Amino acid sequence: MLRIGRFGEVTVFRMGRTLLGRVVYPVHCFLVDGLLIDSGCRSAAREFLGAISHRRVTAVANTHHHEDHIGNNAFFASRGVPVYAPEGALPFVADPRRIKMNLCQHLAWGRPAPASARPLPGELRTERFRLRVIPTPGHSPDHVCFFEPDRGWLFSGDLFLGEQQKVLTRDENFSALLASLRRVLALEPEVMFCSLQGVVPEATTALQRKIAYWEEVRDRVCHFKARGWPVRRIVRQVLGPENLPSVLMTMGFFSKAHLVRAICRGACGDAG
Ligand SMILES: [Zn+2]
Repeated sequence: MLRIGRFGEVTVFRMGRTLLGRVVYPVHCFLVDGLLIDSGCRSAAREFLGAISHRRVTAVANTHHHEDHIGNNAFFASRGVPVYAPEGALPFVADPRRIKMNLCQHLAWGRPAPASARPLPGELRTERFRLRVIPTPGHSPDHVCFFEPDRGWLFSGDLFLGEQQKVLTRDENFSALLASLRRVLALEPEVMFCSLQGVVPEATTALQRKIAYWEEVRDRVCHFKARGWPVRRIVRQVLGPENLPSVLMTMGFFSKAHLVRAICRGACGDAG
């Protein structure tokens, strides 16, 4: 599935596999003045590359190394288009077999082909825009966002994902995520371009609400952890029951328990 939309000078590509008529875990990537931000998932390569081959792409920039963000790098690299990725992502871009993927990830997004990439500079320039590279670890250690200060655009990769996010993957770092959300909030972005949600208007308000929600979740989790409650009971009390069909369908890739464990691992010392 591929849908193409526009927000001002930004072209928005929404792609993913459909299951029973619904898109499972859609991915967005964005084309702004020739710069393609993330290259989407390989499972949508035929439609996406068919559509984008009619457009001007002068460079590709990845927000992080996950398979649904670097999926079509090889197509552009093989045509001489420079591909930029965060330093920590380069080994995964060069050899995507290093990316840990379960069956669900294979089916939903597919494994990327190897591609050559170069490290991101501190700022990316197009003919009309300049995008600052903002390190935002947490979702993955190598994660960055791109910020266009004149327009207030924040290309947020997988940092935001939603205001009331109740699940994480196993490897995420909650304290680092919260610090990264605060870092991009300080930029006072006007519009966010999110890899999951697409265009998020009123970005600053959305970020404030997400941070407030997660601070409340963190404080409650730490309160019950201090009482010695087990993770399963904290999950039910603070976030409600697990969405079992989703946990099963993703083979445990996303779960509320991962969020609670990530908070217990490190964030309780930061709780106010
Ligand atoms: Zn990701």
